[in-house]
Amino acid sequence: MKYISTRGDATPRSFCEILLEGLAPDGGLYLPEAYPQVDAATLTRWRGLGYAELAFEILSLYIDDIPAADLQALVRKTYTAEVFGTEAIVPLRGLEDGLYLEALSNGPTLAFKDMAMQLLGNLFEYELGRRGEQLNILGATSGDTGSAAEYAMKGKQGVRVFMTSPHGRMSPFQQAQMFSLQEANIHNLAIEGVFDDCQDIVKAVSNDLDFKRRYKIGTVNSINWARLLAQVVYYFAGYLQATQSNEQRVSFTVPSGNFGNICAGHVARMMGLPIAHLVVATNENDVLDEFFRTGIYRVRAGADTHETSSPSMDISKASNFERFVFDLLGRDGVRVQSLFKEALSADGQFDISGEAVFRDASAKFGFQSGKSTHADRLATIRDTDARFGVTIDTHTADGLKVARERREGDVTMIVLETALPIKFAATIEEALGRQPERPAKFEGIEALPKRVTVLPADVQQVKDYIVAHARD
Ligand SMILES: *Cc1c(COP(=O)(O)O)cnc(C)c1O
Repeated sequence: MKYISTRGDATPRSFCEILLEGLAPDGGLYLPEAYPQVDAATLTRWRGLGYAELAFEILSLYIDDIPAADLQALVRKTYTAEVFGTEAIVPLRGLEDGLYLEALSNGPTLAFKDMAMQLLGNLFEYELGRRGEQLNILGATSGDTGSAAEYAMKGKQGVRVFMTSPHGRMSPFQQAQMFSLQEANIHNLAIEGVFDDCQDIVKAVSNDLDFKRRYKIGTVNSINWARLLAQVVYYFAGYLQATQSNEQRVSFTVPSGNFGNICAGHVARMMGLPIAHLVVATNENDVLDEFFRTGIYRVRAGADTHETSSPSMDISKASNFERFVFDLLGRDGVRVQSLFKEALSADGQFDISGEAVFRDASAKFGFQSGKSTHADRLATIRDTDARFGVTIDTHTADGLKVARERREGDVTMIVLETALPIKFAATIEEALGRQPERPAKFEGIEALPKRVTVLPADVQQVKDYIVAHARD
């Protein structure tokens, strides 16, 4: 299997060549040159597999430059009941008839990003060890991504993490999760500024190509292909749990921000998984819902990006969306380049509402969308608690609200649960008048000693810190 760029660079690259990369050299995103097809007999055979074995089968279709025995060992070590809480790894929980929540949030940091990041940590350690190389991961986080990356990389050979976050702006729980890590290869940098300052610093450091090369700077953001690939597995696992035969189709609703999670669903559907619809659920930051309703993709300015109670979906543009548009446009890299590079930088938007392909987004690719607001979130959290005795988080609530609007006949609907409620306790308290349950392993973490360095929002000082610690 080879990988190509969404912007026309068709140089074939293997999985391990792109594993540690972000963007392709032409600024595009990597995708496989074709989607492997899973036939009915294979799907039937997969019904009996545990999660790690299923992951091995799916990853093997995309990775041909890691020996099978090594890949199998890596996935077995990643997807254990010990790390993810249950043998099923992603168990379904039934609400009303034919509607399920798929639990993706029982990993180390209680959000679905662990599903991919935990594998990435093991893949990075393996590949860096093979090459005899080191990597310094530099990132910016407002919460979920940074903690998932740190828990995946802590203690790993050859990898260090330098994670910037806005000083004093994460929830006490999120701060405690990250800052209580004592592993020497994890560096928390609290920046005196807002999240955008952190992102600007990461960009400035990465744009200094000399520095980047010299200090082996890398990232783990959501455009990484390996992260997306790891997420494909739980669409299969959800489908296989919800059905008895391959004749049945199911739909998925996905609380969405950067379009990484639902893009994995798109890949699963392209492989032949019988998915009826892929429903994109957004919060008040509705750039994706707007596109699927109107055919206009309009990136928001910082000032038009709302701070909401489902903060991990507060995006101004959706960084993985280009992957879907590449498929939607018949894999025309030149056209993708003209939309994402030229039109977006000139006008901040593009409009394909008048083109026949726009109808394909729903008719051929199965996409639908909907939007949810703070009031919807509160109502959905209350209703789910009252009717089913289940406390859901704010992002999952956005998904559930939109899923109910999109249900059709007897088609099973699976809503992806993307975080546990304890991460967003203030809104749960607002909805239910009580604190959400806290998993035992997080009891009292706010009181643990913290490892964090506070720095001004200054690129040079962050570089100096990296230089001082990059070879420890
Ligand atoms: C990251 C995140 C999302 C958004 O996922 P995308 O892949 O960016 O669409 C939704 N919910 C939670 C809790 C998240 O952490």
